[in-house]
Amino acid sequence: MQVKNISKRLRKVAGFVPQDAKILDVGSDHAYLPIYLIQQGSISSAIAGEVVEGPYQSAVTNVADNQMSDKISVRLANGLAAFDAEDQIDVIVIAGMGGGLIADILDNDSAKLASVKRLILQPNNREDELRRWLCGHNFQITEEAIVEENGKFYEIMIAEQGHQVLNAEQERFGPYLMREQSAVFLDKWQREVDKLEKALAKIPEKNLTERSAMSQKIKQIKEVLHAGK
Ligand code: SAM
Repeated sequence: MQVKNISKRLRKVAGFVPQDAKILDVGSDHAYLPIYLIQQGSISSAIAGEVVEGPYQSAVTNVADNQMSDKISVRLANGLAAFDAEDQIDVIVIAGMGGGLIADILDNDSAKLASVKRLILQPNNREDELRRWLCGHNFQITEEAIVEENGKFYEIMIAEQGHQVLNAEQERFGPYLMREQSAVFLDKWQREVDKLEKALAKIPEKNLTERSAMSQKIKQIKEVLHAGK
């Protein structure tokens, strides 16, 4: 089975994997990402880590169907427990999970990250929480991307060892994303404004505190969107 047609989201994630990197894909599910990277000739081997038995078995089957069992080591493991120092992993990918869960996975075994050069993270939500964790644990965000697929927005962040201080706005919107103001970024946040404005319209006039908090949220987003104009 060929997995050349992986999702646009995963293809974007794959684009941040350096040539010949030794990667661990945490939460690999069907192992689509490592299989795709080997098919593309980007990497020659990888570890696919998965904590749940069903997705782990899917990964084992897909890897075998693609004759890659000698190249991709599929491991039933929780988070970073999937690798040891001898694996010489230099890039870790964690995609398709909540930002809080990704931060927990990193936090649970953070000493193991000392030898890792690059984290490629794609949280489905709580991006601010993940950025805060990274900057509080000796990582700096070096690149960001945002893609839209099937009506959903996905942020991708690349982090490497280093020092970085982000303010609350940068944590929420992404330091590079808010500077670049791509069409997809603007679309994401305009949709959020539309949603909040609809919610505001439903709050009774007498609920002054609630209305003011909602208006403040809308104002903050609009300020970021207008800063790029
Ligand atoms: N990474 C793939 C992607 O982006 O398409 C699969 C995403 S899937 C929604 C999330 C996967 O992460 C699930 O298969 C889940 O079992 C796995 N997972 C969740 N927590 C994990 C952990 N602590 N360690 C390893 N895998 C985990």
